Amino acid sequence: MNKPLVFFLSLMALTACTKQQTTGIHLENLDTTVVAQNDFYQYACGGWMKNNPLPNEYSRFGSFDKLGLQNLEQVNGLIADIAAKQHPMGSIPQKIGDVYNLSMDIERRNAEGIAPVLPVLAELDAVTAKDQWSAVLGKAMDYGLWAMYVDADAMNSSMNILNEYQAGFALSEKSYYFDQDEHTTHIRAEYLKHVEKMFTLFGIENAAEKAQTVLRLETRLAGAALSNVELRDPVANYNKMSIDELQVLVPQVDWTTYFAGLNIAPDSLSVGQVRHLQEAGKMLAEESLEDMKTLFQWQIIDGAADFLTEEIFMQNFEFYGRTLSGRQEPTPQWKRAVAMVNGTLGEAVGQMYVEKYFPEENKTRMLELVANLQTALGQRIQALEWMSDETKAKAMEKLNTFTVKIGYPDKWRDYTALEIDPTLTYYANIQRAAKFEQDYSLSFLGKPVDKDKWFMTPQTVNAYYNPATNEICFPAGILQYPFFDMNADDAFNYGAIGVVIGHEMTHGFDDQGSQFDKDGNLINWWTEEDRARFEERTKVMEEYFNGIEVAPGTFANGAFTLGENIADHGGLQVAYLAFQNAKKQRTPEQAQSAAELLNNGSGELQFTEEQRFFLAYSNVWAGNIRDEEILQRTKNDPHSLGRWRVNGALPHINAWYEAWNVTKESPMYLEPQKRVSIW
Ligand SMILES: [Zn+2]
Repeated sequence: MNKPLVFFLSLMALTACTKQQTTGIHLENLDTTVVAQNDFYQYACGGWMKNNPLPNEYSRFGSFDKLGLQNLEQVNGLIADIAAKQHPMGSIPQKIGDVYNLSMDIERRNAEGIAPVLPVLAELDAVTAKDQWSAVLGKAMDYGLWAMYVDADAMNSSMNILNEYQAGFALSEKSYYFDQDEHTTHIRAEYLKHVEKMFTLFGIENAAEKAQTVLRLETRLAGAALSNVELRDPVANYNKMSIDELQVLVPQVDWTTYFAGLNIAPDSLSVGQVRHLQEAGKMLAEESLEDMKTLFQWQIIDGAADFLTEEIFMQNFEFYGRTLSGRQEPTPQWKRAVAMVNGTLGEAVGQMYVEKYFPEENKTRMLELVANLQTALGQRIQALEWMSDETKAKAMEKLNTFTVKIGYPDKWRDYTALEIDPTLTYYANIQRAAKFEQDYSLSFLGKPVDKDKWFMTPQTVNAYYNPATNEICFPAGILQYPFFDMNADDAFNYGAIGVVIGHEMTHGFDDQGSQFDKDGNLINWWTEEDRARFEERTKVMEEYFNGIEVAPGTFANGAFTLGENIADHGGLQVAYLAFQNAKKQRTPEQAQSAAELLNNGSGELQFTEEQRFFLAYSNVWAGNIRDEEILQRTKNDPHSLGRWRVNGALPHINAWYEAWNVTKESPMYLEPQKRVSIW
């Protein structure tokens, strides 16, 4: 009787042996010539950065982007196969294949020249009086001064509402139009030249003069727009009103006519940025018909640039690629084609992607990790000494009602109404896809919020938190190395994907997310004292990042990156606690095998589990970046740069000091009273 049992046990041991865990840490990623405690980012990622020089087509290339590239190659494999065959008209493979082939066919586009865009320009040219703007702008797909979309009502999160958002200035962040530093002044001068060249390429006369008009009108709009920091205030950016009230607020537009152009008849909306919309209305009345047409002409041209000839594409690259972000070469055509298919038929591609590349066992492991992170965040909330029991109870409620989405959606999007016709031009098909997207967004108007909807496709290397639905989402694309490794031990997975999970959860409690309650409503659930104490603490974070010099003379924007920095901080704290909890719950056998992993051999295994937790975290942010891209991201990326997501975040984490024995002598050392302590 004993024998079979022994056999059974040894078989188990064998199974465990073949599934031998690894540390997931790749030694070649490190730069052991520097002292870890002096520059942890360089120590943890220096090898990776040396081994992965910045490709010419990239402005930043990190381990994040490397995984993105791998996903793109996998998707390309799926799509190129489809695109090489014939499929029945109207089928998903036909649509995917034709978008891809249209994008790849640069010869055809060169032959067509600017012809595809001429009908759109002609329609604009046919406007003869200012009072036509309301009707024209309602129908316009390719230009405008504001954007309209449907999303959950921030004050009644179970229902959708029409939202207005500032638009109409191509450089997107208002400071590009006003900052007087050398770099921004240079960008503006180059922008002016670019607009002039594009007008010339489209055969439009008085190009130089028209470029001046574009810059003047965009500057006027940008002047009334909110900055990236001001846009972070959800209360200030929510202004619900009836259409009658909108008519009084912006009388220069006939809103009933405008909405008829969009094929909707809303009874209310939320205006995002009131002053910007008012200014836009004034411009339509005050600026000459010709000048407004010039601005809209530019918007049509600017939006079409990627879908026409090689020459136009390259001019567009010269400004947006080279000048703004320092890229040396454009993205190869096949990558642009895959990106376009991902952009137009993303979930159809995602469905194929997960069938081939997403093992269901990943989902099981992730659910377990998320549950452990949730427990750990709960423990941390309960232990906060600065928060009252009253607010804690609400915070726990919010934490316990998180919706978790992993891998791919339960129901897939319907692309039946999207018609892709290969006899039409690439540009015409892209316009159809844009119209299909707009109709899709507007179709939710007046309906209850669909909580099953995903805001990222499964193949995306990213994750998100959505305050309106109080959900965290981890697409299949991110559940791979360097974020996630089924074969790696807890130290690795808690340090990498664990911190990402904790990061997204903390977004529910960052400077913005914390203003939404468990149901996703913009309703204050804090006592006044607790809110004041929270803001006092986030201020420490803001000021610390304001002091980081990201490029000579340029400092990080602590207010703009506050939410992401809080999330990184919270993510590290929560994932570390969850990791410690997991260690405590190990069976004697698991503890034994962890100890063996630790003591077995040399190299990577000389690190303790706690040290590896921080190495795994840092490796997620390994990357090289161009100087221009640093300056661009400082203006428009709410995330801190990779280097500072490590060297700016870790000095606030007590466990990092312990794991790596960081002492007062280290340049990264922060006095305990200067360390941030929020979640
Ligand atoms: Zn984030």
